[in-house]
Amino acid sequence: MKGLFTGLRTTAKVLARGAHTQQYPHEQPELPERSRGVIALLEENCTSCMLCARECPDWCIYIDSHKETVPPETEGGRARQKNVLDRFEIDYSLCMYCGICIEVCPFDALFWAPDFAYAEGDIRNLLHDKERLGTWMERVPESAWPEGYQGYAVRRGAPSPDHPPRTAETREPVDVGPEAPKPQVGQE
Ligand code: SF4
Ligand code: SF4
Repeated sequence: MKGLFTGLRTTAKVLARGAHTQQYPHEQPELPERSRGVIALLEENCTSCMLCARECPDWCIYIDSHKETVPPETEGGRARQKNVLDRFEIDYSLCMYCGICIEVCPFDALFWAPDFAYAEGDIRNLLHDKERLGTWMERVPESAWPEGYQGYAVRRGAPSPDHPPRTAETREPVDVGPEAPKPQVGQE
């Protein structure tokens, strides 16, 4: 009998406490702003160095680029080469959200955004191209913005005079060394 009353007392206490769960999708969850929901790409900061693709444990980042010659800025200077990004894709059907790609990026080109509701009926649509990854920048919290970045609206054509956004044209060419092998799904 004692055990029965103890059980009933515990049930009554829990009932009075109220629920800790949220009824998603009828209620939207209150997530911390730095939640790991989706990876955003700031394309103008990416130098196609391939570090993120090489370090990704799931080999789910696909990058293609080509080299362009930048004319010398001063008379007598030498022309330099810079990488131009053609393809940057993340396959979210493989990604395990470890964040290694964001940690290793030396150029502040990848960020977490808290959005998580991008499930798809067709698994092929979980491959986000660089345009789609770029739209997630709108959702990156201000506290995570890199130096000089003034937000998605600025990127779309309203630059701050104090902090002009870096672009593929204004960014300093970076010597990234010899071309790295391109990762393939299933490569060991
Ligand atoms: S979060 Fe991890 S698994 Fe996902 S793309 Fe980045 S490195 Fe790869
Ligand atoms: S590590 Fe950063 S700069 Fe290098 S390819 Fe990846 S996103 Fe671009």
